[in-house]
Amino acid sequence: MKISMIGTGYVGLVSGTCFAETGVSVTCVDIDESKIQKLNKGIIPIYEPGLEPMVIKNKEKGQLFFTTSIAESIKEAEVAFIAVGTPPDEDGSADLQYVLAVASEIGKHLDHYMVIVNKSTVPVGTAQKVKATIQNELQKRNVNYAFDVVSNPEFLKEGNAIEDFLRPDRIVIGVESQEAEKVMRKLYKPFILNNHPIVFMDIASAELTKYAANAMLATRISFMNEIARVCELVGADVNMVRKGIGSDPRIGSKFLYAGAGYGGSCFPKDVKALIRTTREYNYEFQVLKSVDEVNEEQKVILAKKVLAHFNQNVKDKKFAMWGLSFKPNTDDMREAPSLAIIKELKQHGAGIIAYDPVAMDESKRRIGNTIEYAQNPYDALKNVNGLILVTEWNEFRIPDLNKMKELMSEPVIFDGRNIYEPSE
Ligand code: NAD
Repeated sequence: MKISMIGTGYVGLVSGTCFAETGVSVTCVDIDESKIQKLNKGIIPIYEPGLEPMVIKNKEKGQLFFTTSIAESIKEAEVAFIAVGTPPDEDGSADLQYVLAVASEIGKHLDHYMVIVNKSTVPVGTAQKVKATIQNELQKRNVNYAFDVVSNPEFLKEGNAIEDFLRPDRIVIGVESQEAEKVMRKLYKPFILNNHPIVFMDIASAELTKYAANAMLATRISFMNEIARVCELVGADVNMVRKGIGSDPRIGSKFLYAGAGYGGSCFPKDVKALIRTTREYNYEFQVLKSVDEVNEEQKVILAKKVLAHFNQNVKDKKFAMWGLSFKPNTDDMREAPSLAIIKELKQHGAGIIAYDPVAMDESKRRIGNTIEYAQNPYDALKNVNGLILVTEWNEFRIPDLNKMKELMSEPVIFDGRNIYEPSE
């Protein structure tokens, strides 16, 4: 079986590589030539645990190919996945220009029956737009090849992406033809051997399922962040409240951590996009609007705590920041709370010296040398007025507190993830 994976980012590269593991011949495509050049040399452009050896192995075995040509990738392919970005437009809606550009390119070169799969997170109705775009290109060429468009949203988590893809909790597939269902069943068969379900449904439901999942998870986080604020008011401990409610199976223990706000490439944009989509149907999604508002406040709450501690005056003070990525085990800094905190403190005249195990290159690419970077966590602490813990990487969990106290000119920690015992 031969497939094309168009868009070789966090989702495309992981999905393509995992399909290659099962014996499928996968051609990954990207518009970014430098990315494809790197991958062809065996250099992995992103940090994702376990990905590098799998890419190299499958490339060497002749199972995994990289190209910039969609035309080349879909030759004789049974399936083409669209896994390009869907960033937020100015009004918060999902920007579909990359998805539709790929659809149009597919339409220009399609020459046999294929299943076109939307793996990107896209609003309800996008499959219809992809279909119309391809159909339009076929008409321009005066040819008529059959094809199906399928919705197959991706639920992998950065940092644990390979495990999530190889052993998914569930696979959601929206289809409208038996032929497409048959092809998708064949492709995903190796991934459901753990008895987790493959759920077939109509396309609109599949498209909405992805947004509903992210909206629910974001809601839990904003809810717990508000519970944490209430805890501070009444003198309770949010970690205790979390344990107290998380053992109730109706609630469950996951995604109940109060912190510095959610970030990353998915939750912020998907919450905003769902609010925006419902508005098109004259519906105001009240709960999600609050979830989004609470998170915007939460992303700068640590900076506000720093300011409050120093009576709103941090001019010429310097702070160490541990963690820049939006969560541990990734170098992804899209919508990372670290960026909001840095911006806020710099506006007040403070300096930042940061350390992150993998995201410092990405930070330099985004904000250049507007902050300093340290070689290791302790280097960052020399003569600073405080430490701001933003990302709970494992290596920050049991630090040498005495050494920290010696290094810092003011030994104060702003713990954005509640990983330290205040008394210690
Ligand atoms: P990404 O930005 O890492 O990768 C997208 C890639 O698509 C980029 O390399 C870009 O160069 C490429 N691209 C853009 N236009 C192209 C074109 N015309 N032809 C070929 N390649 C093109 O994005 P990502 O994080 O992999 O996300 C992709 C989609 O999957 C998004 O819709 C996202 O919401 C969704 N998603 C992401 C995650 C995640 O954890 N990152 C999880 C689930 C779903």
